[in-house]
Amino acid sequence: MLRYSPIGDRELSQILQAVKSYIALERESGVEEHFLKVVIKKESLGGKLSSDLESLKREVKNCTGCDLHATRRNVVFGSGNPKAKLLFIGEAPGEEEDIQAMPFVGRAGQLLTKIIEAMGLKRQDVYIANILKCRPPNNRMPLPTEILACEENIRVQIEIIKPKVICTLGKFASQTLLKTQAPISSLRGKFQDYNGIKVMPTFHPAYLLRYPQDKGKVWEDMRKVMKELSLD
Ligand code: URA
Repeated sequence: MLRYSPIGDRELSQILQAVKSYIALERESGVEEHFLKVVIKKESLGGKLSSDLESLKREVKNCTGCDLHATRRNVVFGSGNPKAKLLFIGEAPGEEEDIQAMPFVGRAGQLLTKIIEAMGLKRQDVYIANILKCRPPNNRMPLPTEILACEENIRVQIEIIKPKVICTLGKFASQTLLKTQAPISSLRGKFQDYNGIKVMPTFHPAYLLRYPQDKGKVWEDMRKVMKELSLD
């Protein structure tokens, strides 16, 4: 649904950009015919006023920007130190996160907590968020429309927190934030750039639960993050 209201050139170009990315994402998923049902919120067109995490959280709590609002128990906004130097970004809440309204509290979350502690930090020292704030039913892959409706939230979260380093967990968060289709196996371990912030893509902890033999690679990536943050 597009809300019609007078818009300026900048907003128009943002709408066109949003529609272009949406169509590109659908093409990548094999969709050839495009039926646009995109909710583009006025606030998401560069006009979001929130300058602190608490007011952004209040706005996002009532979000109905995509169909996930109908099936969620809770919005999982993110948690941790709002002035963190290190921000972890995952994919989307799972069942336990949806119940507790907290990111990374299930099995994968317990492993992430261990990784953070192995870096000499506590969960309260870093900030943890997801690209999607609501749980996709049965933990299915996020849809392009859901990403499009939600990606402004993580953009503003990053802008408010201003971390020195972002660590994207897994293929989905890495590809979405960095706007690339490169596989996580080639992205991981090398610092990338997001609006002047260093981004370290690494494997998702849920992947490590299935392939524990790759834990060493994640640790290599975390050592680079620690060096960048002078934690080593
Ligand atoms: N996986 C994620 O990507 N995020 C969570 O919050 C939990 C599991």
